[in-house]
Amino acid sequence: MALTLGSSLLFTASLLVAACALFWPQLETLYLQSHHASVNRTGSSGTKCPLGYEGPMPADHPPTGQQQQQQRQQQQQQQQRRQQQQGLGPVLAGATPLPAPAAAAAAGGSSSGPQHVFVNGHIWTANPEVPWASHMSMDAASGEITHLAGTPSSSSCTPPGSSSSPAAAAAAAAAGSCKAAGADDAAAAAAAAAAPAGSTVVDLQGAFVMPGFVDPHVHLIFGGLSLSQINLRGASSRQEVAARVAAAAAAAADGAWLLGGGWSEADWGGGLPDASWLDEASGAHPVFLTRMDSHMALVNTAALQLAGLLHAPDAAGSGCGCSCGGDAAADAAGVDKDPVTGRPTGLLREHAMVAMRGIIPSPSLQERKAALAAAAGYLLSRGVTAVGDMGWGVFGAAEETWTDLEEVYDAAAAAGELPIRVSSYVPLRSWQRAAQRLASNGSHHASGRLIWGGVKDFADGSLGSSTALFWRPYSDDVSGSTTGMRLIEVEELQQLVQGAAGAGLQVAIHAIGDRAVDEVLEAFEQLEECSDADQQQQQQCVQHRIEHVQHISSAVSAAKLAVLRLHAVPNPQHLISDRSMLLRKLGAERAGPGRSHAYRTLASMGVSIGFASDWPIVEVDPLASVYASVFRKAPPQAHQDKQVSAGQQGSSSSTEPQPPAPPEEQPWAPEEAMPLEVALQLHTATAATVARLDRWAGQLKAGLRGDFVVLDRSPFEGMDEDGGGGFAAGVPRVVKTYVDGRCAFGCDDGDVAGDVQAAAAAVADSR
Ligand SMILES: [Zn+2]
Repeated sequence: MALTLGSSLLFTASLLVAACALFWPQLETLYLQSHHASVNRTGSSGTKCPLGYEGPMPADHPPTGQQQQQQRQQQQQQQQRRQQQQGLGPVLAGATPLPAPAAAAAAGGSSSGPQHVFVNGHIWTANPEVPWASHMSMDAASGEITHLAGTPSSSSCTPPGSSSSPAAAAAAAAAGSCKAAGADDAAAAAAAAAAPAGSTVVDLQGAFVMPGFVDPHVHLIFGGLSLSQINLRGASSRQEVAARVAAAAAAAADGAWLLGGGWSEADWGGGLPDASWLDEASGAHPVFLTRMDSHMALVNTAALQLAGLLHAPDAAGSGCGCSCGGDAAADAAGVDKDPVTGRPTGLLREHAMVAMRGIIPSPSLQERKAALAAAAGYLLSRGVTAVGDMGWGVFGAAEETWTDLEEVYDAAAAAGELPIRVSSYVPLRSWQRAAQRLASNGSHHASGRLIWGGVKDFADGSLGSSTALFWRPYSDDVSGSTTGMRLIEVEELQQLVQGAAGAGLQVAIHAIGDRAVDEVLEAFEQLEECSDADQQQQQQCVQHRIEHVQHISSAVSAAKLAVLRLHAVPNPQHLISDRSMLLRKLGAERAGPGRSHAYRTLASMGVSIGFASDWPIVEVDPLASVYASVFRKAPPQAHQDKQVSAGQQGSSSSTEPQPPAPPEEQPWAPEEAMPLEVALQLHTATAATVARLDRWAGQLKAGLRGDFVVLDRSPFEGMDEDGGGGFAAGVPRVVKTYVDGRCAFGCDDGDVAGDVQAAAAAVADSR
């Protein structure tokens, strides 16, 4: 079985690349009409592209009567949406039939308990069947959405009390009163009146509301800890690095480790740092500072001494040491050496970082709990209500991740104190332990705030550290032989994947380089295909994930992802942080469309995509992430904040002459841009599916939980008829965040608040 699937896959995938390329131009329609097909594309309908495409039939296949009717309905819905997005809502509101009060009350859901009723909103639901609503109700006790209906009355409103620009407020006023009028008011009033005694009614006053963002790949407690550690983001010189380390040393207990990270050599012109940068400033403290991608660390001499690395054995190929393939001296291979003296420079990569982590004391339970609170506060302030926690990964020993799950998340969930939804992933190599937990404890806590059953491992490193694994050498490698690091052999990965998947666990593998992606695909190919009978019992048909999928060798890899029903979890913000090095490290072809950050290529093949930040690798900012995927560049504000100037991009030892990188204001490979509504889906609905949180979160519809955000403006402003553009009034700001119908960030006195808004506000203020 496995052999059959594996050997025929390449042929099948190649055919499908050709077949589905026919539909390339209709990508917007594809997603707007049927994005949900991409996560469940094994149905038997003969009209579907085998890769999940469900849009218009090719010209030589006339549509059936039923299809024509569906198309008409879809066209009507799209037309309605466009008019709303163009500010025609008030005109339409009178003409659009709204449920009569009695009907609205009848539709008010099964719950008879007190409700939280939100009226007069401009609610984008991420549910393609009912994309817009003006009011919604949720059960006050459980937070479950019981009812959602109505037509929003205006497209561009600004909630009172928000600090958005006067121009935006004026535009909102010009577009009509933010307060709903006429029939919509009546429907909202009816919804409110129908609510049982003890209910609360919140007037959204025309604000733009959407589902809470889902970030399926963060490092939650690790990230939370980093909030109180040395932050080297934006440090633009050796002196600045030393100054920040010296400040931390002055405040630390005698001999305590100084931890932190966020540095990037691009911030000071490209030269890699060494231990001497830290030794004077750190005194007797050992120091461990991760590069912004967390695949490299800078340590001082005291740390090298403690780790016994001052006498590290020579690795094959001294210097960078990132030759392809694991070997016996794998740990030593990640220790950079001075080519003249042979002494470690203080730079550690991949395995060598893990070895060093082993001697750094673990945080206490109290510190972990505080880190969770800080992390959750920060995420809620950015509109994120649910995450996939990938644990400590390359940052430390496997046990750290298990401790987070068993001692922090379990306890918080049991006490009703988990502020956001967490889908926990533990190391793949501990899959038996994860399988045992799944078998004895089920897959989630009853509250729906904590789920488990995911396992994670790494196939390669990162682009910035030249450890992402490629088929061809890095373009800026003088030796012409560096292709990256393979962090696990294919055969071993296959065994682990087979064991974990067979136990019903969801497997997530980090793969950034094109070769790593292909090797991980190979490991997944040997899994048995999911039969129809298996699909009835969902556990046998878990859809696995490839993290990042940042570079692919061709569209065939994208097609394979689709055929194997794998989720891709790319990071649009990495496009922004990487773009100054893409051409230099990869050359024009590999850095270009179809090969790097190829979201549109993936989507057009029917791959299920969930956008993620990979925090703390980059800041959590889902709206900036959406912007980056739509415009293929950083939001305007970020240009001013960015420390790297275009002039620093050329500082390379490139062996091939490369064309100059486009200036930062220009889009990178605009062929790969996503339509706005699709991008928002990928950060909400499909992101929830990717992290197996979709039975609670990702959309606003009856039966799911009331996780939503209020923004200071609609991102849809300025979106054109074809779904392009948007963000005409700038990138919106998160004003309020709700989890389970309770305010969790940005709350004021009248809000039904959860417990964490104070922490959230404190974090937001401090940043
Ligand atoms: Zn990660």
